[in-house]
Amino acid sequence: MIYTGYYTCIEIYKQLFILKTAIALFLFWRFGVIIKNMEHVTLFQIQYRRCGTNLASLYLGTSLKKEGIEFGIKIFPCYKLKLDLNKLYSFFADSGEIIAAGCWSDALPHVLIALKRLKEKFPEKIVILGGVGPTEVAQDIMREFRFIDFIITGCGIKPLPQLIKTIAIKTNDYSRIGGLVYRKGRAVITNNRRDFYPVFLMPEAPDYSLVKNIKSVTKFFIKSCSGCPYACAHCRIPGLSANKVYYRDIRKVVEEIKLIKKLKTNNNFYAILDDEAFVLNRKRVIEFCDLLKKERLGVHWTCYGRVDRMDESLIKIMSESGCEGIYYGVESGSNKTLRKINKGFTVEEALDVVLMSKKFIKRVTASFIFLYPFETKQEFIQTLMTKAYLESKGVLTQLHPLTPVKGSAIYLEYNKTLRLLRDIPSTFHDGITSLPRECIGLIKKYPRIFYYYYYYYFKALRQELDLLNHPG
Ligand code: SF4
Repeated sequence: MIYTGYYTCIEIYKQLFILKTAIALFLFWRFGVIIKNMEHVTLFQIQYRRCGTNLASLYLGTSLKKEGIEFGIKIFPCYKLKLDLNKLYSFFADSGEIIAAGCWSDALPHVLIALKRLKEKFPEKIVILGGVGPTEVAQDIMREFRFIDFIITGCGIKPLPQLIKTIAIKTNDYSRIGGLVYRKGRAVITNNRRDFYPVFLMPEAPDYSLVKNIKSVTKFFIKSCSGCPYACAHCRIPGLSANKVYYRDIRKVVEEIKLIKKLKTNNNFYAILDDEAFVLNRKRVIEFCDLLKKERLGVHWTCYGRVDRMDESLIKIMSESGCEGIYYGVESGSNKTLRKINKGFTVEEALDVVLMSKKFIKRVTASFIFLYPFETKQEFIQTLMTKAYLESKGVLTQLHPLTPVKGSAIYLEYNKTLRLLRDIPSTFHDGITSLPRECIGLIKKYPRIFYYYYYYYFKALRQELDLLNHPG
């Protein structure tokens, strides 16, 4: 029996060895090419915020790493709202065989021009686009710019690794990759679009080993939830998130801050809660503040607020747990405009909450918008006066011209009035004439794709611009 057992063991071992070898040979035959290609993936993002983490590359990188895909991350700095086409091209040229590039709408013309040059020089490179900019106009981009191979619409965390693996095994079957836009013959195919926000936010922290020189990073952008249940008429978030909010366990968020502190080995950073709806759930905000205090982290943090969700006791609790900055979208100094955009609060309520916040929180910012297509000169003056009043009380203020957002209520109602206007400096550039000539040409040629550079035209527009340029 002992002999038989021993013999059986050897046999089993032999069989296993043969099986393992067969599997290894199969994997090499079938997936050897994956291993080769995976080493040549470059994740590319444009970075607007100095000394801050880049959330998109961090989450996408974490997801690729989990799937065993080797990749490099390249971050192109764009701090003064100026993108140099030659530098951008060189940046792309020095990359792997597969480029996964994400951008916002403002950088879309630059990115497309640089990628066109790249494909002319390196036709074998595979280009995947993603991010907020390409998502809304993906079909049009695929029809007009044949050098783009794929566009991932919405969140890329799951589809990107799937796509890279599919490219590597060369099956050409992309039908199961959610949110992917690609070509099949002459047709442009769009796979079922998934929610813009991942239905399942990654519960754990992203892989911070992907952050280069973490010791010198001072702003850590953190997601604790995604989406918004409100319906402001100028905003794209509610549509993209189907008016839902997806929450991450708040204890995991505090653990993430703890991890950052450990990696940094000091408190010299801000945890920036990059959520539209952080203050939506009062109980959850208080739990977050309590945990920070209990852990004695002594970390500074900032978040977005919402006028109708704040009260003095909540602001106090937030301040006592290290909140040093809060940002309010006040949007207008006119109650008529606030009603029209469905903001859900009045100017008076906004003033109360913003000034109350200023009593407890160091840096309070109130943001306003102008050039609403239904705005009168009088309403714009009310905005300027409200803004000036808050500034006189030590509140930081911002004034942004309204940029069109596809799918927003305002866009649906007023998109026929969109015009390319030369003399309006945007929040994202110094005016259309400040862009490279090639970009201007593209923006004029494809208004459907680059609609973001256009403005709603309305009766009081010139008067508002005159007022802005010559306030006296
Ligand atoms: S502007 Fe803010 S509150 Fe309004 S829908 Fe957008 S994210 Fe929500």
